[in-house]
Amino acid sequence: MPASSPHLLGLRCPEVIAHAQAAGLCELGRELPAMAWRAALLSGVESLSDLPGINARKSAAVAQVFAHRPPEIVTVHPSWDKSVRYALRLADGAIIEAVLIPHHGLWSVCLSSQAGCALACRFCATGRLGLQRNLEIHEIVGQVTQIQRHAGVRVSDLVFMGMGEPLQNEAAVYGACAVFSEPMGLQISPKRMVISTAGIVPAIERYAAAQHKMKLVFSLGSAVPEKRARLMPIQSVWSFERFIESIRTYAATQRGKHVTLEYIAIRNLTLGDDDVEAIRTHLTGFRFILNIIPLNPVDPALEAPTREEVHAWSQKLRPLGFPIKVRRSSGRDQFAACGQLGRSLLADEHLASVPTLGR
Ligand code: SF4
Repeated sequence: MPASSPHLLGLRCPEVIAHAQAAGLCELGRELPAMAWRAALLSGVESLSDLPGINARKSAAVAQVFAHRPPEIVTVHPSWDKSVRYALRLADGAIIEAVLIPHHGLWSVCLSSQAGCALACRFCATGRLGLQRNLEIHEIVGQVTQIQRHAGVRVSDLVFMGMGEPLQNEAAVYGACAVFSEPMGLQISPKRMVISTAGIVPAIERYAAAQHKMKLVFSLGSAVPEKRARLMPIQSVWSFERFIESIRTYAATQRGKHVTLEYIAIRNLTLGDDDVEAIRTHLTGFRFILNIIPLNPVDPALEAPTREEVHAWSQKLRPLGFPIKVRRSSGRDQFAACGQLGRSLLADEHLASVPTLGR
């Protein structure tokens, strides 16, 4: 297999067939390329020699044309709440994490799009790792195939809220979404895929123009521009006003549907009357749901609120009239919750040495 061979998990079915035809693989059977691709996606096998339903001679021929190196599961951390954090090793040794989450009898996976992240949000462990690199399509798809195989489940929903900023790896994320939704493969509807962005404004505008079917959600953090700037350094690149304007642009493509804004609830920081006022003043011109995410502490200077504090603050928002949800983060005991991915990859001294947020 040449070093440049395309990865089987990184291709849509028609692309697999086109590659196979060019390489003469179809001489062993017209159906072979699609069968091999489907078997690799659905079975989660780590080697093409193990493809179910395909004999050794044909598997060897497939392996001459396609590469297949899915991420290797290195550790598994089940939580009491039935979510499971997985650490996976990529071919170059980079470690990423993904979380399997049960909901109403279905299974969802929180995926990584990058190894590490460059954006350094102060409430997020991944942000302290820095960016190692973007993931390729097959490395994103492989997270799902490996987890499905390990857990013995079929995944119905995907959320790009794991490690990395998905809109800094647009081509691979959209490419992976196309593979996930292939009718012959995993058959996950784009409408059941959620991509969360911290605010890469030009990419949000491209997303709106492309009218992708996946749902885009926005990490607002705080609605007070100065607080958001301190929590999310990306705001030094694109201003608060430009970020909100890009959300309006996206919202205009949603035919009146609510846009989801993720709000980080932090004691003594984002639960004040000024925060209510900022929401009322700045979040205008589009319909939204405020998804309040109680902080899962990473930075010693940021304190998690109690449930009562979040509830009391959310009551102050009620007169503003928009829907509010308070997220129950899964897997907190296993560092699998929002903001915690990558936490186990950080040495304690690293956590302590990173500059913390002043009050
Ligand atoms: S919250 Fe998302 S964008 Fe921000 S540092 Fe963490 S992974 Fe990166």
